[in-house]
Amino acid sequence: MLLEELHKREYIDSIFNQYEELTKNQPELTSEIFIFERTVSKRVKKILKKSRLLNDVERKDIKEIIHFSSIAFTEGSLVAALRLDYCNRCGWCCENCSPIYITKKEYESYENSDKIVTAEIVPFEGGYKFEEDRPCEHFIRKTKKCDIYNERPTVCRAFPILIKDENEYQFRPNQFCKYAVEFVVQKAITEITTCLKIREDPDFLKNLENLIEKQIPVKEDNLEDRVKKWNKIADDLDGKLD
Ligand code: SF4
Ligand code: SF4
Repeated sequence: MLLEELHKREYIDSIFNQYEELTKNQPELTSEIFIFERTVSKRVKKILKKSRLLNDVERKDIKEIIHFSSIAFTEGSLVAALRLDYCNRCGWCCENCSPIYITKKEYESYENSDKIVTAEIVPFEGGYKFEEDRPCEHFIRKTKKCDIYNERPTVCRAFPILIKDENEYQFRPNQFCKYAVEFVVQKAITEITTCLKIREDPDFLKNLENLIEKQIPVKEDNLEDRVKKWNKIADDLDGKLD
């Protein structure tokens, strides 16, 4: 059972518990995640098959690891999720997401500069949001481009991570977003290959924890450096299976 290897990392159980708590208040999230995970599962199995690893992993384990991968809201996931190369610029998020949250800081910067943000901004839950969304007024449907791309709010830069303010964020799985699907596919593959390595070599987990601690501990690292380091570890771990 690969799950034994997965649960050897203590923080993993706290992530499952966190998810239980979250879905108590947002029951619709459970069915959203269920549909999303079916899409992810097809692709993960295809990658494992191509890499001849599919027979090494029980179906039940794949399901649980994919579930873990789509509910992991740790900072590591936030950093690991910042892979712009996963986005195919389809514009689905600009046409369908609501609300488009504007932080107080962003609101002030829009107010006090000549940045061309024409959309109406209204107060919303302690911050602000664009009054019109679905689609956003700044979305140009014909070219699928944003007409304020360089000034777009953080929530747009971070999607599919939803950032509500500087300290609160959440990964929202969405089957229509290639970025979200790809993020969880790659995370699941990394988790599966990591578990297989832990199974083969009991020292692997200790070495991995040391490596992560050594590579990504420094608070003063800027986000870009942390993203690069994290992505390198993830790439090295999964051995670029796809
Ligand atoms: S501001 Fe730009 S990136 Fe954000 S939702 Fe609107 S069109 Fe999309
Ligand atoms: S973030 Fe997702 S939904 Fe938005 S453009 Fe990229 S792939 Fe499409």
